[in-house]
Amino acid sequence: MAEKRKASINGQTITYTVKRSLRARRIRLEVRPQTGLTVIVPYSYKIEQLPGLLKSKERWISNNLAKYRPLQSPSVKKEFKSGDTVPYLGRDLELVKRENHSGAGGVTLEGDTLAVSSELFKNGILELALEQWYRTEAAKVISQRTDILSSMIGISYKRISIRGQKTRWGSCSRKRNLNFNWKLVMAPEPVIDYVIIHELTHLKEMNHSKRFWELVAQYCLEWREHKKWLKQHEAALTTGFCT
Ligand SMILES: [Zn+2]
Repeated sequence: MAEKRKASINGQTITYTVKRSLRARRIRLEVRPQTGLTVIVPYSYKIEQLPGLLKSKERWISNNLAKYRPLQSPSVKKEFKSGDTVPYLGRDLELVKRENHSGAGGVTLEGDTLAVSSELFKNGILELALEQWYRTEAAKVISQRTDILSSMIGISYKRISIRGQKTRWGSCSRKRNLNFNWKLVMAPEPVIDYVIIHELTHLKEMNHSKRFWELVAQYCLEWREHKKWLKQHEAALTTGFCT
């Protein structure tokens, strides 16, 4: 039996898993790169005691989570400063503070530089402004590619939405609507294309059968590599920015 819960560890909200075990005699904490923190408790353990327990182990948890953080999402962190880099289409953009910067939303892309109005740094609302910028870019890039790929493959769709799902890069509905995660725009273009092709193909084959993967491979030979890339960067979906 596993259950997801939230806790505050050193001022950061984390999601962890509680597992009740018939065999466990005492409480055990585990931190793994893919799954984060898991707390295994004896079957009869009173859940109300968990916050206090986690508080007493705060230091250990925070140190162990930190060990895996660079591996999970190298470029996404909580507080940004000028000179930091953020990922975009598989490359790194350098954040540069600009005085009197009047771009759209105070954030503009100039080559490999993301120019950000100095006011955004002052107010501590940079993460929000960056997310807004990413969402706008994602809508632009993903709609463009979906248009092209949909006519190339010959599968039509109805509408695209850009979302902030915590568990997926893309999804589709029976009404032929496609949903994509705004964080997908951080990935290299071939990976973005793969996710779009994957979702478009689902409009024909609503499953992950052999036939489905054959259809995907017709337009995306390297789908296995792209799938692997997404798996490796999965943690970016749940960490960083306004989570
Ligand atoms: Zn799928």
